[in-house]
Amino acid sequence: MTAVSSQPKIAKPKVVDQLMLIDGKWCHSVSGKMFDTVNPATGQVICRVAEGDKEDINLAVAAARRAFETGPWSTMSAAERGRILYRLADLIEKNMLELAALESLDNGKPLADALAADLPLVIKCYRYYAGWADKNHGKTIPVEGDFFCYTRHEPVGVVGQIIPWNFPLLMQAWKWAPALATGCTMVLKPAEQTPLSALAVAKLAHEAGIPHGVINVVPGFGPTAGAALTSHMDVDKIAFTGETTTGQLIMEGAARSNLKRVTLELGGKSPNIVFSDADIDDAVEGSWFGLFFNQGQCCCAGSRLYVEDKVHDQFVEKMLAKVKAQKMGDPFDQGVTQGPQVSAGQRDRIMGFIDSGKAEGAHLLSGGGRPQGPGYFIEPTVFTGVEDHMRIAKYEIFGPVMNILKFKDADEVIRRGNNNFFGLAAAVWTRDINKALKVSNQLRAGTVWVNCYDVFDAAAPFGGFKMSGLGRELGEYALQNYTEVKTVYMALGK
Ligand code: ADP
Repeated sequence: MTAVSSQPKIAKPKVVDQLMLIDGKWCHSVSGKMFDTVNPATGQVICRVAEGDKEDINLAVAAARRAFETGPWSTMSAAERGRILYRLADLIEKNMLELAALESLDNGKPLADALAADLPLVIKCYRYYAGWADKNHGKTIPVEGDFFCYTRHEPVGVVGQIIPWNFPLLMQAWKWAPALATGCTMVLKPAEQTPLSALAVAKLAHEAGIPHGVINVVPGFGPTAGAALTSHMDVDKIAFTGETTTGQLIMEGAARSNLKRVTLELGGKSPNIVFSDADIDDAVEGSWFGLFFNQGQCCCAGSRLYVEDKVHDQFVEKMLAKVKAQKMGDPFDQGVTQGPQVSAGQRDRIMGFIDSGKAEGAHLLSGGGRPQGPGYFIEPTVFTGVEDHMRIAKYEIFGPVMNILKFKDADEVIRRGNNNFFGLAAAVWTRDINKALKVSNQLRAGTVWVNCYDVFDAAAPFGGFKMSGLGRELGEYALQNYTEVKTVYMALGK
């Protein structure tokens, strides 16, 4: 991902109250309840959104089941599904500015970042899976005896999808694109903090020709709408991105109901390792981006920054200059590189981590405070002298808080890097190819970046080892999440 600092001038969108989408109709919730969605840069309400609960989930799942069983989505030619997905990608591209503005308004990310990073990845994701629609085929298998044996890759059925607030459009694309390509039907619950862009893409999906009932969007809260989707007896699969503790509840709900298939993309505490033979300027730039991008609200943030002792002081000095140049402010203002955190709750949680860093003896080099005025802003913060046992080095902070730890050699840093219950991502900075290979092979993480950070492509899988998740999103691997393999034996000569 790359971010830019200039952007076209776009007015903040004016948004009317939003309904939910069930069976192709925009409707109020059964209870009639609405909830506020808030602009995190000001704390002001943007609009109200229909609040789904169990009854709405039941209606949405019934619609998705009908659409799955009666078609035409699951029964049309795979190539036609692909063509419709390409149309959706084109429509998102055509409406890119409006979608980026809506995302910035609801989430607080700098508009320039939404335009440079989120939207291009979203469009690429839909196009990538549009291409897969008619290429995900089975095998013929030379079994013993007079049988013709082959496999079919069939859609898994009705899929429940629960997404977080940090990359709402992108997480929707990661969930919808492979599910649509394989012919599934779905019910999406966006995060309660950021429901707007999911609803906007749902409108475009209809315009693209996705039939009624194939996609349903039920905004609402986790313990109500989310839990109802997770434990629904007629949902075949649940795909979730969010916190590890929520992932555990999802798996439990899936197990206790109908053993629906589960994929989870959860938290991380990713080691980012800088050796003394690295290009230090590149390492500073990449490590800055790897932590502060998206206000630090990335599951793969390089939040344990290990720097070899020989270059530690030089690295820290350069990093400090970079962090001091950060421009915090309204996401719609030119040149802003850091917006607010998504909510007051998140801001307070991060401030708790900053307090614990101070209390446990880490050295607060920069930031650590909250600016005066409205919005959920936190100063870009850097701790040095961090030790592995401290809370800020063990748990996911999900905010603009950089922790710098010193190390001496490769074996030591591999051991320390792996000494965490997460295993989502890692990075290593070195000019020595042998060191790069040794460290990247031995780190227990789903993605390892060498001399780069936060590189994403729809074609390459992403997901976690250990408590960072289950399964892989993106790439060919993600097709398996949304398909069942059927084996057919046919007796020959009868
Ligand atoms: P965060 O605390 O960062 O918001 P969560 O894991 O709580 O992360 O949220 C990610 C998504 O999971 C959101 O859409 C949220 O509504 C949903 N969610 C939260 N709790 C539950 C739950 N008990 N069951 C199902 N979904 C949930």
